[in-house]
Amino acid sequence: MAMDVTFLGTGAAYPSPHRGASATVVRFEGECWLFDCGEGTQTQFMKSHLKAGRITKIFITHLHGDHFFGLPGLLCTISLQSSSTTNKQPVDIYGPLGLRSFLRRIMTLSHSQLLFPYVVHELVPTRDQCPAEELKEVSFVDRDNATPEETRGNTICLDPVEDSYMLVDNELFTMKAFRLFHRIPSFGFVMEEKPRPGRLNVQKLKELGVQPGPLYGKLKDGVTVVLENGATISPSDVLEDPFPGRKVCILGDCSSIVGDRAVSLCYEADLLVHEATLDDTQADKAKEHGHSTPKTAAEFAKLCKVKKLVLSHFSQRYKPASQVGEGDMDVTELRRQAERVLVGQEVVLAEDFMTIGIPMKNKHGAT
Ligand SMILES: [Zn+2]
Ligand SMILES: [Zn+2]
Repeated sequence: MAMDVTFLGTGAAYPSPHRGASATVVRFEGECWLFDCGEGTQTQFMKSHLKAGRITKIFITHLHGDHFFGLPGLLCTISLQSSSTTNKQPVDIYGPLGLRSFLRRIMTLSHSQLLFPYVVHELVPTRDQCPAEELKEVSFVDRDNATPEETRGNTICLDPVEDSYMLVDNELFTMKAFRLFHRIPSFGFVMEEKPRPGRLNVQKLKELGVQPGPLYGKLKDGVTVVLENGATISPSDVLEDPFPGRKVCILGDCSSIVGDRAVSLCYEADLLVHEATLDDTQADKAKEHGHSTPKTAAEFAKLCKVKKLVLSHFSQRYKPASQVGEGDMDVTELRRQAERVLVGQEVVLAEDFMTIGIPMKNKHGAT
């Protein structure tokens, strides 16, 4: 089952010709999940090998414009390009409290009608996710009427025991969110594939007298079978160890983590996408604006023992390595700063349209 991550926007604050505003796509099994949708994301889709019409879920890390100003436009374009006769499944949109009201107002004011249904699930932040003076009164939210295409979504509060938010739990994946500290409340997302059953041990099946056929399929599906001779075979008798699932973590803007579960949630992730807006020499300025530097990102990656750290959300002053001109800041210095913390481990600098494959693991967890 192929799985990959594509960066459609890797710049901070606004889209530029060199870096789009934040947008990252995770693809697997025909599904396409979008993380953040900065202004211009729809044109970034068109320039890439991906199709926006395939998006089934959208996750917004926080309500700064460079992370969601592209959302209404993208939804309208997907609608224009889809046919009213196709029975499209609802698009699930997850984001902080206020996102539902934003979409209702903008769709109503612009008389936009989507040809597909959508659902907005809101995450309720806690007061310690931003400076006290930035806390906004949000009791106004949800007073507007729903548009005809909107199905009522869930309001998801922090699970105080798990210290996380459970967003998706299906046969293939779980998706959880955790809290980040930023100028306004921000979230990190952890997408974890469920373990897949191990291979059938054919030699053992033969020894036990199980004939190839439908019984093999049942055992593989975890069903205990009874043979004609009355012997009972349980799946654990004939299945090898399960294959561990893959884990991808995508964090929104942050200067630090809130709560104490983030490290265990992101532990041994195959890929961690972390912002590094400014370089280490500007650590004070970064912190003041609620942002990270390569050192912050690498220290978190080190604690989590992640396999690959990808830095993104660079200040627009850092052009991609291939487009650096005279007098431009050198983005590769950010990689060196992160690699100083993660000794011997390669760090990746995200660039627009870069795709990273996440290979399946063998049963010992190695890829
Ligand atoms: Zn941002
Ligand atoms: Zn931000």
